[in-house]
Amino acid sequence: MKPPGKSAKTGAIRVWIAADAPEPTAFAANELACILSEALGIRIAVARDPAKAKHELSLGSQAGSPPSRSSPVGDGFVIEPREKEVVVSGASGAAIVHGVYRLLRQVGAGMSLDGRLFAPQLKGSFPWSLAAERFEPAFARRAFVSDIMTYHYEEPDLFASRLKEDRKFIAWMGWQGINRFFYIRHARDSRARIDELAPALRERGIGAEYGGHVLQLLLERERFTCTPELFPMGSNGRRNAQGNLCASNPAAIEVVCRNALSYVRDHPDNRLFHVWGADVREGAWCACAACARLSPQLQYMAVVNAVARGVAQANEAVEVAYLAYHDTIEADPRLKPDSNVCFEWAARERCYRHAIDDPRCSVNRFYWEALRRYVDLFHGNGHVFEYYADAVLFSGLGFGTPAVVERDLRAYRRAGVNGISCLTFGAYSILAYPINLIAFAANSLSPASKSWHAASEAAAERHAESALLMERAYRHIDRASKLVLSYGDVFRVDRIPQRLVPAKRKALLAAAANFDHAVQAAEQAEPTECAPLHRAEIWLWRYGAETLRALADYLQAFRDNGADRSSRAHRALGVLESAFSHIRAIAPQAKGVWGEIDLESLHKRWLAALRRRSDLET
Ligand SMILES: [Zn+2]
Ligand SMILES: [Zn+2]
Repeated sequence: MKPPGKSAKTGAIRVWIAADAPEPTAFAANELACILSEALGIRIAVARDPAKAKHELSLGSQAGSPPSRSSPVGDGFVIEPREKEVVVSGASGAAIVHGVYRLLRQVGAGMSLDGRLFAPQLKGSFPWSLAAERFEPAFARRAFVSDIMTYHYEEPDLFASRLKEDRKFIAWMGWQGINRFFYIRHARDSRARIDELAPALRERGIGAEYGGHVLQLLLERERFTCTPELFPMGSNGRRNAQGNLCASNPAAIEVVCRNALSYVRDHPDNRLFHVWGADVREGAWCACAACARLSPQLQYMAVVNAVARGVAQANEAVEVAYLAYHDTIEADPRLKPDSNVCFEWAARERCYRHAIDDPRCSVNRFYWEALRRYVDLFHGNGHVFEYYADAVLFSGLGFGTPAVVERDLRAYRRAGVNGISCLTFGAYSILAYPINLIAFAANSLSPASKSWHAASEAAAERHAESALLMERAYRHIDRASKLVLSYGDVFRVDRIPQRLVPAKRKALLAAAANFDHAVQAAEQAEPTECAPLHRAEIWLWRYGAETLRALADYLQAFRDNGADRSSRAHRALGVLESAFSHIRAIAPQAKGVWGEIDLESLHKRWLAALRRRSDLET
């Protein structure tokens, strides 16, 4: 192996950090030392330098190097190569980790979405050909999100498999400069977070966020029997134990605030407290005489402000997030958030054929307006929650819309949004949405990243020996996505209005043909070292082609008046059911726990919903 150049003469190269360096700085130093040691075939140690700041390190043969000439800003970092050393400093723990990975990228190292490490190619003498870099990410908060229930934490084998998936994903997140991970809790969850993943996040400086659909937990359901007046009144005039709370009842607010404060105190590492209501489209808010004059948005705002006030009075620094989603997606002009309340905007039913600010899209025009109003009302303090890797919304089909991701994130940045997040389902999201994940991570840093590049990047890192053919396959998936993703949940073609049926049916068939083309391109590829992934993608796209054709048939039968419409709808449902055999053929390690367990049961539910619709309407 090659010695590390000139500086070897003056002493061995080391990575220098402060004696009391925080965990992420020590982690970054170790990563740098290990990866370079491996590449150079020598041992590079981490050593202590009293002159170092807490989020700073240097690579060189001597301690005492002066700090970088410019300081990092925002959540950014500075890489400063000098004649005999290189100094990296970050504005935060996550930023120093990000800076070190960027330095390693400069010399050709990297990590694939599947968790494979690429070794650096070090040419010439130390400090090789490193370039100075001063980088500030476009969004202060860059997060991935998962539902706690998808971890199957009550079943040890499934839980162990899912943890393995996430540990790989978190390693990739570190390389991408992602700085938050958010666990969504549902009312049935007994856990607020996944403790087992805390060390992997902490060492990378990735902040954890908790909360989710927790409002129902903050008002214990057991109280319903004795004090039903704390609960929301339905439109039938009866109190409902399933909804959120009666926002005009001071006792209900008091209970929620008390429990919310305990929640915050129990999780001192929580970086953003997401206080969401029940995950339903409507009916969770109150219709009592006092609440009826308030929109769901104003009822919810009253609760979130009360929680935020309680948190602030207790000197807890965490911000509280108000979710704009379903019946709160439109901004009520009377909303007045407290200063420690931000909005979190989640337009799940938006169109993914078009970017969010594309004036040609009649669906997104409404959502874009709503977002801009939220930005105004919350004085820019807000986040967008995105669904680019949502295997439920996309019904388990593989899709990719990198140009939409890029333009969206540019629009969000321009609108003044602070943070963005993307929902994921473990390894299944990596299998089915690699292009979107790559585009999301890159554009969360710089929303001008060339997203067309995401398909070639995904192909190169996942299928090194057949990259060109797989890139072609991914471009067909991109085309299929542009044809289909305009009406929310992909399975629910029964929600497509009558007037759009002919066009949507044509689009579904054209998209199915693109899935066929993707399969053909992939089949031409030679089996590689990534053969299981290659086979998994072929099965995934076959599932896509058959599903979209059957959905087109179902749609036409469902909206027809012919005598045989019911039998045709049922025939299509039969094809949808048998198409699932392709998912069953995918190796468990490629589709992950979600693909193995959750998708199977969701698929049955989606089919049952379509069956009910066609039975009802015969
Ligand atoms: Zn009420
Ligand atoms: Zn559209």
